[in-house]
Amino acid sequence: MRLISSGRHHARFEFGDLQVVSLRDGYIDMPPTRLRDEDGCVLEELPAVVPLVGDNLRLSVNAFFVTDGVRSVLIDTGASNVWHVPGMGLIYDALDEAGIDRAQVTDVAITHRHEDHVSGLIAPDGSEAFPELERVWIGAGDVAVFTGRLAPIRDRVVAVAEEVAINDWASAIPTPGHTPGHTVYRVSSGAGRLLAWGDTVHVPTLQFEQPSVSWELDGDQPQARAARAALLERLVRPNHFVAGAHLDSPGIARVASSGDGYVLEYLAPPIG
Ligand SMILES: [Zn+2]
Repeated sequence: MRLISSGRHHARFEFGDLQVVSLRDGYIDMPPTRLRDEDGCVLEELPAVVPLVGDNLRLSVNAFFVTDGVRSVLIDTGASNVWHVPGMGLIYDALDEAGIDRAQVTDVAITHRHEDHVSGLIAPDGSEAFPELERVWIGAGDVAVFTGRLAPIRDRVVAVAEEVAINDWASAIPTPGHTPGHTVYRVSSGAGRLLAWGDTVHVPTLQFEQPSVSWELDGDQPQARAARAALLERLVRPNHFVAGAHLDSPGIARVASSGDGYVLEYLAPPIG
């Protein structure tokens, strides 16, 4: 997998016969008190290597568009305008910048129900952001999010209850923990495997080295911790790559073991 080109809000990678485009929706600042130790208590000491902006952690928010030139899948959609914070909802600019027509998006794969992942299905003006949308894949445990603002899309929801193929090269794999319906999408190209792992890690400068550290919003922390451990173990295999919603934009990396933890090597310099 290698970087082909990038801009302010996107980066394009060649992945065998596929292209993977990382789309930057923006960033959100969150207090470090959201980090939890193994007992579920607020993490007492933040290592000095973890950067703060003011008093906050700055989390990138990424979505990923994968295409073979004919079929494509958009994994997550950003926050649109629901959080009313500056610096979010940029996915539409990112798509424009990358030359991806929104009418090209027929299949959206949502990693979980949180607003920074699902809200971008509806544009800030209240219209459907993807006019030719046919299917929205989401874990069965998170389907209830399709109400209110998202209700018009409910008729196209495909509930993922077990590992299932989306097409020849993409599969949905349930990984409950962060939310009941949290789902990882595996993209295969030749021997290469890319895992778009949603919210498995929120703070990359800390949780690779210390994967037992959890996040307040991990609904079931032991389950989320176990899912993170299993995915990290899987990612150290040859030809495996991760695409992370909250890894630093553009958020595509390799993972290696290091002592009791892991290190990640980004495949592209930061954007944004
Ligand atoms: Zn998130």
